Amino acid sequence: MADLREELRALTGAFRVHLEARGRCGTLGVSFNPSPAPVAVPAETAAPADEPLTPYPTPPPVLYDEGQVMHSGRGLSALRAELGDCQRCKLAKGRRHIVFGTGDSDATLMFVGEAPGADEDLQGEPFVGAAGQLLTKMIQAMGFARQDVYICNVIKCRPPQNRNPEPDEIAACEQFLRKQIAIVQPRAIVALGKFAAQYLCGETTPITRLRGNLRTYHEIPVMPTYHPAFLLRDPGRKGEAWSDLKQVMALLAHMGVR
Ligand code: URA
Repeated sequence: MADLREELRALTGAFRVHLEARGRCGTLGVSFNPSPAPVAVPAETAAPADEPLTPYPTPPPVLYDEGQVMHSGRGLSALRAELGDCQRCKLAKGRRHIVFGTGDSDATLMFVGEAPGADEDLQGEPFVGAAGQLLTKMIQAMGFARQDVYICNVIKCRPPQNRNPEPDEIAACEQFLRKQIAIVQPRAIVALGKFAAQYLCGETTPITRLRGNLRTYHEIPVMPTYHPAFLLRDPGRKGEAWSDLKQVMALLAHMGVR
């Protein structure tokens, strides 16, 4: 019963995202003509009766830069080189490593967290501390290996004492997350915690209300859920996070990419 409810929630969310995408593409509209003239379809272009309907539109690619599409072949290593020994904001002074991102450059699923913590700063890889171990279990529970997905953060350097990222730091780093998404072109993004969720969804709604409700980032479905560090502090919320992840699994299955 709970599974059916989750599937229904995922399908309703997917349908809403689908309608939004179709609306933006201009392919959704209501005809005011009660009986439009039938359009003749030439026999050779007519779909065979048993061809499955495309259930979900592939969103237009996120643009890397003004008008430019970047594909994973050239992608992430060139972007990492562009980031270089970044001195674009004040976090450069206190960091040990830039934590760029890890995983499959062609991943269908991407996880976005807030910012590196102490362990990540030491190792140069996102989500390798205690929260990262829980994230790895969440990814595996969804049927993926950690290396099959792409994992990164909104900002790439550790803020002192893990304080929240500040607006100038986000502004300096913003282009790199956008370009990572443009390169990977994931079919869905899981936003981990309030900061990533509010950033990707462009909303200041509290995470307790954002979570579990599909949103979009440049037409890519985004599922906000709790941050694994929060789940370690409040394990009673794991069930809610799992139901959010199950919605993502249902969505990917619905898209035919899983
Ligand atoms: N928390 C985050 O948001 N990101 C990390 O990489 C580690 C902890």
